[in-house]
Amino acid sequence: MKGSTGTSNLLGMTLAQLQELCAAEGFPRFTAKQICDWLYKKRVDSIDAMTNLSLAQRARLNEVAHIGRETPVRCQVSKDGTKKYLFPVFDGHFIEAVYIPEDDRATLCVSCQVGCKMGCRFCVTGQQGFHGSLSAGDILNQLFSIPEFETLTNVVFMGMGEPMDNLDTVLAATEIMTATWGLGWSPKRITVSTVGIIPGLKRFLDESQCHLAVSLHNPVPQERLQMMPVQKAYPLNEVLKLLRQYDWSGQRRLSFEYTMFRGLNDDQAHAAQLVEALKGLDCRVNLIRFHESEEAPYKTSMPSTIAAFQSYLNRSGVICTLRASRGQDIDAACGLLAGKE
Ligand code: SF4
Repeated sequence: MKGSTGTSNLLGMTLAQLQELCAAEGFPRFTAKQICDWLYKKRVDSIDAMTNLSLAQRARLNEVAHIGRETPVRCQVSKDGTKKYLFPVFDGHFIEAVYIPEDDRATLCVSCQVGCKMGCRFCVTGQQGFHGSLSAGDILNQLFSIPEFETLTNVVFMGMGEPMDNLDTVLAATEIMTATWGLGWSPKRITVSTVGIIPGLKRFLDESQCHLAVSLHNPVPQERLQMMPVQKAYPLNEVLKLLRQYDWSGQRRLSFEYTMFRGLNDDQAHAAQLVEALKGLDCRVNLIRFHESEEAPYKTSMPSTIAAFQSYLNRSGVICTLRASRGQDIDAACGLLAGKE
């Protein structure tokens, strides 16, 4: 949790962690709650602004801690209003967050790692390799340091990185977003995505009430393996078996992401196999148009093929929507985040 200054980053600390810090410094226990209010309710960016702490406490905090707020170094604006922000993190690396305004909501898609270990063949982030995991402060900074913070209705962990591979941090960040001492959001406003790393997924399902989105992309095991190396260690049927042990009829929602690749996963046989795989699971499927890039050897499906696939699923009783493509002109769409300056 030490930042570039060598001191602890207060942003991203939970109430329990702040209580530990206060105990170590000999501050009263309630000081931790006061610091939470300044960090997460008033969102100050300096310790000196915490005016109900004594001058001595502020001076000591300035010696041992800082608030890791970093303004984005670049903002690209799409013609559809989507904005892609580039943030500096550690060791000269950058990450991206995408702000997506819609009629009645505004979603921020956040990153949780620099690069990714999962190596999905269709994903620009995955082709870059892995350069490190973000801290909870780095994740929260993506929300707090954009001018649109007040308009945000939803956050999705679908940017760079695999959340289950940085789970302690993702759980700390979502705890801060949902706790009454934090932002106080409903967990229904947050969706965490995964390719299906089973040990992390199990823990997430037990410890979090946030929505879950699983990247499925192909119901045929050998074909999925060609696109997603994770299929080898954690096969889809095992992931589905785990998901079936949980109740999805309540507030928490389960969805599957399915990117449409021309001639690979978009015919009726795949649709039928997908329906079969999801049988009995209370869930929905989000179809995503693939965004072609030089780095990935895939093409996007024809609009008529996507429509036929969607209609097959809906007729078979699987709720299926086609996710609108946003920010394609600024490379902000799914799988295109590269974090390049
Ligand atoms: Fe990682 Fe997600 Fe890209 Fe796969 S799609 S490589 S999990 S960022």
